[in-house]
Amino acid sequence: MTSRKGSDMTPAEPAPAEVDVAIIGAGMAGTTLATVLGNAGRKVTLIDPHRVHHDEFRAEKIGANQMQLFEKLGLDKMVMPLVTPFTDVDVFRLGQFFAREKKWEYAFSYGALINGLRDALPSQVPLTVGKVTEVSTGPDRQRLVLADGTVINARLLVVATGYSELVRRAIGVERIELSKAHSLSMGFDLAVAPRDCTYRAVTCYGKRASDRVAYLTVFPIGDRMRANMFVYRTVAEQWTRDFRADPQKMLCELMPEISAQCGNFEVASPVEVRQVNLTTTQGHRRDGVVFIGDAFVTTCPTPGVGIGRVMIDVDQLHSVHIPRWLETPGMAADKIGAFYDDPVKVASDEEGMRVSVYAKQITTETGLEWRVRRLRNNTARQLMIIGRKMRHLRPRREPGMA
Ligand SMILES: Cc1cc2nc3c(=O)[nH]c(=O)nc-3n(C[C@H](O)[C@H](O)[C@H](O)COP(=O)(O)OP(=O)(O)OC[C@H]3O[C@@H](n4cnc5c(N)ncnc54)[C@H](O)[C@@H]3O)c2cc1C
Repeated sequence: MTSRKGSDMTPAEPAPAEVDVAIIGAGMAGTTLATVLGNAGRKVTLIDPHRVHHDEFRAEKIGANQMQLFEKLGLDKMVMPLVTPFTDVDVFRLGQFFAREKKWEYAFSYGALINGLRDALPSQVPLTVGKVTEVSTGPDRQRLVLADGTVINARLLVVATGYSELVRRAIGVERIELSKAHSLSMGFDLAVAPRDCTYRAVTCYGKRASDRVAYLTVFPIGDRMRANMFVYRTVAEQWTRDFRADPQKMLCELMPEISAQCGNFEVASPVEVRQVNLTTTQGHRRDGVVFIGDAFVTTCPTPGVGIGRVMIDVDQLHSVHIPRWLETPGMAADKIGAFYDDPVKVASDEEGMRVSVYAKQITTETGLEWRVRRLRNNTARQLMIIGRKMRHLRPRREPGMA
């Protein structure tokens, strides 16, 4: 079944039977790769079981560095109308106001962003709505069969199916868990509206290692104030159940210093909770197929590097590897290996994993080394807070005074 606009029930157009590149999974990685390849004149098909990406809790904001990657790929004009830009983030550390950060950030609902990107796919790259039931890969041709019997032949298969295991398993690759139940991400709406806030956005870091809180970030998405909180806990533990039952009470206890900015933490939606595992892939060096985005590696949302990592995969494939691969006959594993060995991609994945692990250690580890590191960091921050307060207290010099 194929369609671009409309519901999951939209009638089908036939999927193109012969393509250069078949992409399975129309999330961030798959949709953006299909767009840039389509714009470059490649024959591409993009397949996903759902016409409309459901509104699940995923990335809800990116920073300026990640927006630059969209700009580099010529996608920023598509992305900008789908996001809420903001700057001037009030940062609280150690229970006190620390700084107003001037950097730009861009907030969105993940489902709405992906659906907007799907609607803007080039007309020659329709979204094929269907379930892949058979995959066969080889050094020359890749063959997909969809549930409705449609057969698609491609020179290259790209797997961009995120956390989903079905297609990965059918091809025979294995997900390796590097850190199971690494963290929890929690998302909820605050009752206060952006127009009633005297600030644009707030970030508040946890104070004690025993709280296991990385930070809470509050920011506008359209006419809602949204909160994301990242904690090093598990879904099953009592703390998480208590938080879900009464987030207002727990937030007032944990972060009273920002309660006034957050409408006394009155919450206007259920608390969405997602457990995150750090994972990588084994057995992926194969003829004819490449794994990208979360279908290859998953990192932790706390340092906010997921979308950047996905977009680096897309950029390197689009601007370096796929043009080279299509220039010469065949699509054997050694050719595709150049992507997994690409220093830009390797550095991006390694850095994503490194900061994911570090963010947890610096927040929760209780060994001497980590206590010393926290003390050093917090002393430097405390001195900055005192210095700023003293600058405010010092009488201003009149012009002409010595
Ligand atoms: C709670 C949470 C918060 C996050 N916060 C941040 C953040 O603040 N900043 C940040 O940078 N990153 C964040 N991330 C990470 C970021 O959301 C992901 O790295 C990114 O969305 C991955 O994109 P993707 O395209 O690889 O996968 P996805 O967007 O998951 O896309 C996968 C697609 O594959 C499709 N699919 C699945 N199975 C099949 C199949 N069998 N056949 C065909 N299609 C299939 C799905 O329908 C989906 O459309 C967060 C992640 C989570 C879970």
